[in-house]
Amino acid sequence: MATTDELVTMARDAAHRAHAPYSQFRVGCAVESVDGRIATGANMENACYRLGLCAEQSALTTAQHVFGLAQVARVAVAGGPWRDGAITGIDAITPCGGCRQAIFEAAALSGRDIEIICAGASGDAYEITTISALLPAAFGPAAHG
Ligand SMILES: [Zn+2]
Repeated sequence: MATTDELVTMARDAAHRAHAPYSQFRVGCAVESVDGRIATGANMENACYRLGLCAEQSALTTAQHVFGLAQVARVAVAGGPWRDGAITGIDAITPCGGCRQAIFEAAALSGRDIEIICAGASGDAYEITTISALLPAAFGPAAHG
């Protein structure tokens, strides 16, 4: 298993591979499985703005292919504004509402809560929380019977 610092570093590295020419806001995500496997992703924007994809959903797609959503244990997200050739900002960023729903899908499949580590582009002011705290009373697969 990666340490929290290592998982955040992987998310920060992934942010450097974002395609974010419109927002100039680069986000990376590292998803760790229960047995320590890692899947990463970054935000992927498009000239047709509404087609943009968040880092978390990009990483979760890879996670499904690498080890399966039901094996997701932890998610680290990190990033910030791109300025003068670097990703900047020390304030922790958190998953958007849509990504919280996507992370919840993995939690619902496994029946376990998922730890979420939120970080900025640099610094060690992480916010560590869970999907159940970020998305209470979530709508999930159980609604489909
Ligand atoms: Zn999102």
